[in-house]
Amino acid sequence: MNKGHSYFELLDALKESGCPICRLVQKDSRRYLDHLMYESVLDVPTRMQLMGSFGLCSWHAWQLPSLPPVCSPDTGFSIFASDLLRKFSLLAVAITEGSHQKRGLKSFFRKKASQFLSKIKEQACPACLHVGQFESYHLKELADFIEEDFLQAYRASQGICLPHFFLLQENCSSHPNFPLLLELQLVKSQSLRGVLEEFIRKQDYRFQHKITSEEAKAWRVAMEFLAGKPGIFTNEIGHDLLQRSRAEGISPDKISLALTSFDRLTFRELIGEMKTAKEITLYLKEPLPADLFEDLKRLLRREQPTIEVVVEGFSNIGYLQGLHAAGFSLFYGLGLPAKTIVFLGRKRGFLIEDAELSSARVLRLLKRAEDLYFSLLWRRFGVAVLLSGSIKETDKEKKLFCLIVEGGRLQWCRFKDADTKELPEVGAQVEVFAWEKWNSHILEILELRVLELEGQTAP
Ligand SMILES: [Zn+2]
Ligand SMILES: [Zn+2]
Repeated sequence: MNKGHSYFELLDALKESGCPICRLVQKDSRRYLDHLMYESVLDVPTRMQLMGSFGLCSWHAWQLPSLPPVCSPDTGFSIFASDLLRKFSLLAVAITEGSHQKRGLKSFFRKKASQFLSKIKEQACPACLHVGQFESYHLKELADFIEEDFLQAYRASQGICLPHFFLLQENCSSHPNFPLLLELQLVKSQSLRGVLEEFIRKQDYRFQHKITSEEAKAWRVAMEFLAGKPGIFTNEIGHDLLQRSRAEGISPDKISLALTSFDRLTFRELIGEMKTAKEITLYLKEPLPADLFEDLKRLLRREQPTIEVVVEGFSNIGYLQGLHAAGFSLFYGLGLPAKTIVFLGRKRGFLIEDAELSSARVLRLLKRAEDLYFSLLWRRFGVAVLLSGSIKETDKEKKLFCLIVEGGRLQWCRFKDADTKELPEVGAQVEVFAWEKWNSHILEILELRVLELEGQTAP
């Protein structure tokens, strides 16, 4: 047998008290959280994942305070918590605003009991996902390793807890070593019961002085044997937030589930509907069909609905400037669906896709549009701004420059492609088109235009 790292890890766990699988689950959790806090706090995909799961489960969250100071759990958790509260606020405001328009909040919540939860918690705790995967490896390895030296060590140990034994049975009942594990479990159970019985018998005052230390601590051993280590097998009050939220949620990566198979709409009909919509929201990973863009611009000039456009992955800055100049509110998005989505209000949603047989685009109606509306709502992580001001100072080393904008406010900026761009001269009057992002106080400059240098007008 190949005695790799996991063999010795499991063997070591056997030498400690209690269930070795529980112990490894605790260890894996700790390792995961350690890594999360030490290295991944500023990692955008990690933060997106945590926002999707609405943070860690209660068990994992409460392990953070015991991490070593070098992991800075205080700073790390503050950053994650701020992301989550931002998500909660965005959704709560949208839900309350929406329901004030037509009907009371009460009826809104009555209709969908887990309204908030299903919008907020879309995935499982990432630490649990990680640890759960390793837990099944450990169980499988236990079944593989239970021979020779390992078997001896196992006999001498307290063995695995019963909840883990039940999982083992679920996953490995056809493993050739399962009958042996069952036999061992039975032996452990019977001998533990024997010790407990002795302890109970000796409660009689005549025998109390005869209670051995093994008998005195047997009830705690039995507690772990029956229930596992604290926190690993949750309570049964029925709070499982994930299960509750899953009943209704729909995430952007499962968008195909939200498409109706027929029910197509023409672009002309869409524009017709747009004329009466108060709020139009677009999610784009590619430019809009040119006609639709023109129609939207016309609409904005005449009817003045709010048009919000959330974009992701655009390298064509001119196009973004065009959207902004047209009067759309422009947002920086992350984790958007691959195809363009249009919402009219929050209950009508369409997907734009290529027609199968021609180069034309077709519109497909989304069912459960409102669910998707909410699950996309928090995926805006910045807003486009156009500012003008004069350059106060530059920091060549950090590739930053500081702008004095209207009202004397100071704003630090960095070019999106800072390595290839020259810093502007101090004193120059400039106009910048930039992303104001959620995770930084520094503006990300997409385009800088020099209006005039100090004492002279730009050509
Ligand atoms: Zn266990
Ligand atoms: Zn967890």
